[in-house]
Amino acid sequence: MRDKLIVGNWKMNGDLATNARLLGRLSTDWHATQGRALAVCVPAPYLAQARAALDGSDVAWGAQDVSEHRAGAYTGDVSASMVAEFGARYAIVGHSERRQLHGETDAIVSAKARAALAAGLTPIGCVGETLAERERGETDAVVARQLDALIEALGRDIARIVVAYEPVWAIGTGRTASAAQAQPVHAMLRSRLVRAGAGDVAVLYGGSVKANNAAALFAMPDIDGALVGGASLDADEFLMIGRA
Ligand code: PEP
Repeated sequence: MRDKLIVGNWKMNGDLATNARLLGRLSTDWHATQGRALAVCVPAPYLAQARAALDGSDVAWGAQDVSEHRAGAYTGDVSASMVAEFGARYAIVGHSERRQLHGETDAIVSAKARAALAAGLTPIGCVGETLAERERGETDAVVARQLDALIEALGRDIARIVVAYEPVWAIGTGRTASAAQAQPVHAMLRSRLVRAGAGDVAVLYGGSVKANNAAALFAMPDIDGALVGGASLDADEFLMIGRA
């Protein structure tokens, strides 16, 4: 059985004092249990704080994005090697908010995943359909296209990433995909990963995961954990999801 991974995505939230309380709780109250791992992806300015608070604990940390470029005249961007210097293990790439608000294409997302791997980070590559795409019956086609772009760009290295299926209509809306809605999409993603020689890649679910719906999602055979937005800002709720 594949291990479960629960990753918090703080998005653009936090301040030094609030982070200190949250990270302190995670550091003291999360103890790695067999087959369960916990991580938080924080805004880049807080990577140093995350490292100071979590180093030596059972909680890993990461970034929410990295540049596809190694270095140079890219004002405002943060490179994967800069993130790695702060001890980060993960970098989210292709979150739907980046795709929608920053125009990130499949090609850019793939380049970001490659940059993350080259810096020693594990990319968490997000895929997911909009509500309109789901209603048109295009869910499988959309998420397959997004995953295939990563498979094509990364080749054998696809086995070194984490995938997160995040239906856009479920992110931050309180509308979770039911386990019965999510599982077939995960199974379809899994079959493509198997064909690419990467059947052991963790496929997380994301979209309004809470303590009261996590267990049903985690019971599905192809759901290997969660990418958690809003609920990861509350230590009790996030720890409960981790233990669900
Ligand atoms: C996310 O931002 O990746 C996410 C899943 O958000 P939320 O849990 O708030 O829906």
